[in-house]
Formats: sequence, structure tokens, C-alpha cells
Amino acid sequence: MTFTKNILLINPFVYDFTAFDYWAKPKGLLEVGKIFTELGFTVELIDCLCKEDKDMAAFARQRSGIQQALVKQYGTGRCCRQEIEKPPNMNTIARRMYRFGIHPDLLRERLKNLKTKPTLIGVSGIMTYWCRGVKETIAIVKDIFPYTPVVLGGIYPSLIPEHAREYSGADIIFSGKVTKERLISLLQQTGLCTTISGRTDHADTCFFYPYPDPSYGVINLSEGCPKNCTYCASKILRPHYTGHNVEMALQEIKFFADQGIQDIAFYDDALLFQKEKRLLPFLEQVVDEFPLLRFHTPNGMHLDLLDNKTADLMYRANFKTLRFGFETAQPELSIRTGLKIRLHNCKNKIEILKEAGFTREHIGIYVMIGLPGQTVESVEESLEFVRSCRVNANITEFSPIPGTIEFVNAQQNAPVDFTADPELQNNSLLPLRDRTFSFDVVNRLKNICYRAPRKSAISDHQMPSVNRYFMLNQGKN
Ligand code: SF4
Repeated sequence: MTFTKNILLINPFVYDFTAFDYWAKPKGLLEVGKIFTELGFTVELIDCLCKEDKDMAAFARQRSGIQQALVKQYGTGRCCRQEIEKPPNMNTIARRMYRFGIHPDLLRERLKNLKTKPTLIGVSGIMTYWCRGVKETIAIVKDIFPYTPVVLGGIYPSLIPEHAREYSGADIIFSGKVTKERLISLLQQTGLCTTISGRTDHADTCFFYPYPDPSYGVINLSEGCPKNCTYCASKILRPHYTGHNVEMALQEIKFFADQGIQDIAFYDDALLFQKEKRLLPFLEQVVDEFPLLRFHTPNGMHLDLLDNKTADLMYRANFKTLRFGFETAQPELSIRTGLKIRLHNCKNKIEILKEAGFTREHIGIYVMIGLPGQTVESVEESLEFVRSCRVNANITEFSPIPGTIEFVNAQQNAPVDFTADPELQNNSLLPLRDRTFSFDVVNRLKNICYRAPRKSAISDHQMPSVNRYFMLNQGKN
């Protein structure tokens, strides 16, 4: 090994009941890689959740008990997984638990075979309830590189830094937004680098997406959200809404298209907000210059901000997956938590989408189940309302996000202490936290979605419920 200014970034493997790659990339970690590259460092990425990784596939073939990754429509899919024993406090859960992603032995091998010893190792922590995978990944890293500083950043250490400090094993906890200034300051504080050879200004000079044969690209035109829903961490992680440079976004699209990538997912929380400034000019160019690309919006968009012109441009730009936040038809709960859209307006806006050419195959409306104070009957009504609009309802199980109002509300009546144990904040464990939404009830509600005679681009059988926590936060780690 030679010693150079080399930075290693790792997106850890995860423990969960389900982990579907619904265009999910560690966007924050990729931003870190981009900034370090601009600063003149050599940056390597090990994404333990990469489903296109050929080494992981070969390893899975050799070891029994590991299921291969699956790539499905539009680049979505599932990375390889191995069933593991559930922790004792989850034994009552009638679901299998898995380690998703790279096998720890293969991660060790990869680290040992690195050509250059890293100067600094950055690890991302996304969901708070994925903290075990973070801890185990860092333990492996520390075993191989005991003297290399490990920095943990992302949503998990931003939302519960004290837990991350005590539990993860990282040397440095990096909470909050990643900026070039903060990363330079981190390097100087750690004494790793006093002189920077690359660009320290704000000019974007490169794209960092070092995936082998990527099946999709990810992009955002903005950060943050002007709304402040009581179950969402957007305002905590990104207090201010800011727009990105459209020209830069178009260059990024070209970068993806040049690699043969066809599917692009937007990570914006508020893609339609100030659309005249960014989305519309962006799409006008896309229609002319990138007619073969397909677009997807896994984060729910604001349906009330939609108009005919936008719907028409989105259709012509080849949007294939449209998701909109709706959450609940229960009036007082909707108003208390953030009111995405009123019912009559929702129907009108869906008509606008249909007039533009979209069908139910394209359109999915998120309905939340398990919000504190929500009744089962109101969820049924919400699902029936969405079905009556002749579009797909996508169920999202409520996951309490630390720092939000609904986290506190949910904990007050919960039979388990999920504040102390972030693993219990998993959306799949809703029935453990809220007796109203038992497994039977949750399954019955999911079946209401299946009942509709429809053909979905991403069927609910592929992804029975959406891990909305990730969607509400994935662009900000
Ligand atoms: S749930 Fe959506 S609309 Fe509400 S604050 Fe979060 S990102 Fe914004």
C-alpha cells in the first residue's frame, strides 16, 4: 500500500425486513465524494447495497443462504440478502429479517485488497433504525484500519447524534448538511490536510457516481421543502429550501446519458415548488435533447402545485413514475399534520394528469397508515378515495422520525420505548408500536390496494409498502 491522500466512502449493509431499491442511492455520500474529488483527493466508494455489484453476485453464488440481487423495471430491484436471526425484542414479529447487501466477509476482503490505504474513511448512516449495520460496518473497518479516522455522517447522526456517538464506534460524528467549507474544516481539524490542491470555491467541477454498470441515475433540482409536516424531518435536516443550478443539472443528465443510463430519479422534496424557475426550463431542454431518458419521482410531489403546462411537459419528457403525497383523508388529522391537498382539489389535479396522457400505471398516491391519532376506518376511507380517483394508492407505514412532533406523539402512547432503541423506529414495526395497527389490520389495509383492477408500473407485489422514511429523507443524508 502506498500512502496518498485517499478517501474511502462506505455505504453500510443494513438489517431490515424489507429493503427495496426504489431508486435509492446514498445521495449525501455521493455529494461528499464529489466535493473531495473537487478538492483534489482520490475517492473510492464501497456501496454495500449496490445490486449491480458483480463481486457480490459471485460471492452469493458460492455461499449458501445468500439470495441474489434482482434488477426489475426501470432499474429498481433488490440487493442480495441473507436471512438472519431477529433480535429478541422483535421475536413476536411474524416476518423474516435479513442482512441486505454485501456479506461482511466480502467487505473485509475488499478493504484488505484496497490498493491505497485510506487517509480518512467516511461512512453514511441513513435511517436511524439501520444503526446496527452502521456499527458492524465500522467495526470491520476499524479492524482492518485501526488508525484511520472514521467519520460518520448522514441522517442517522444528524437526527440522533448522541446515540451515534455512543453506539456507532465512529471517531467523528458529522451532523447536519454537507458543504465544502465544513469538509475542509473537518480535514483541517483532524490534521489530515492543511493544504488543499483542488478547487475550494463553489464551482461544480465534476460528478461522482462511481457505480459499475449503474441501472439508474439520481438528481435533484432543489433541497428542502417549504412545508413543515409534523412527521417529516425535512425542516430539521434542511431548514431552508434552496434551488440548484438548472444548467448544472442538465450537465449531470448528460453525464448519465453518456454512460447509457436511461432511468433518472428525482430526489427533490418539493420538485414542483417554484417550478417556473427550475423544473419547467429543465424539462423544456430535456424534451429536446434527451428524448430517450425516463424519469421517476419516488419522493411524493405536491399535487396542489400541478398545472396543465407542467403535466404536459412531464408527459413529453417521459415521466414514467409519478408519486404524490396525500397521506390521509381524515380532515382534522390532515390539517394537524401538514395538509397536502384537499379532496376535491386532488380529484381535479388527477384529471389534469390524465388529460396530459398519464394513466393509472404512472400515478401513485401515498397514503400513510399509523399516524398518531389515525383511525383504521379513516385509512380505509383514504384508500377508497384514492381508488375512486382511478389511480394507485401506495401505502406508507408511519415511521417515527426523531425530532419531529409525531415522534413525540407516537411515543406517548406506544407500548415499547422506541426512543431508546432506534431499531424499533422501523416502519415495518408499526404493529409493535401501535396496537391499533396490528399485523392483521395492516395486511387487510394493504389488500385494499391490491383489490383495485389495475396494472401498475411498479406493482405493489414487488413493493408492498413504501419505506417513506427513506423517501422523506434520502436526498439529505
Ligand atoms: S412530508 Fe413532504 S411536503 Fe411535508 S415537509 Fe416533508 S417533504 Fe415537505
